[in-house]
Amino acid sequence: MYTGPLRSLIDELGRLPGIGPKSAQRIAFHILKVPGEDARRLADAIISVKERTTLCEICFNVADSGALCAVCSDDRRDPDVICVVEDPRDIVAVERTGFRGRYHVLGGALSPLDGIGREQLRLRELLDRVNQGVIREAIVCTNPTIEGEATAMLVARELAPLGVTVSRLASGLPVGGDLEYADELTLGRALEGRRPLEV
Ligand code: ZN
Repeated sequence: MYTGPLRSLIDELGRLPGIGPKSAQRIAFHILKVPGEDARRLADAIISVKERTTLCEICFNVADSGALCAVCSDDRRDPDVICVVEDPRDIVAVERTGFRGRYHVLGGALSPLDGIGREQLRLRELLDRVNQGVIREAIVCTNPTIEGEATAMLVARELAPLGVTVSRLASGLPVGGDLEYADELTLGRALEGRRPLEV
């Protein structure tokens, strides 16, 4: 029914997560209506996030190109406790609890059906960091899902020989849920009540 640039915009928007065809159409018409400069700002933001955002070379959180992430570049953060998370978005959730340590982003969770095994996660990099001897405790904050629990056990097994305490968030988070959507009180309590992970 639509053609040309409007059609392409609706198609592209419709590819975004959580945007169905109706929303894509609504957003496209909204963009059509706004002043040119507003539309350009949106387009520029999309281009610069791709060009100027990379992953932190220490923890793999998102960072401005060529720089460490906001956490790794902050000297006031405790260097000896790290939260091991699946995704940079989980860091936002843990930050809301007031956690003052550092992070390590695995880049996913074990999921053989999706082709994600040990080698696809940033475990080697985690072991290298722990081997430097500063980290005293690793809190595994993977999602309370089957994949997240399997990943937590893998991390615990890998880190156990290195003499570092490996702990896991206390239960209380909705099972099968996503850390990203946990409220800060629940997540804060789960962090507070963390238990050593036995392997
Ligand atoms: Zn970092």
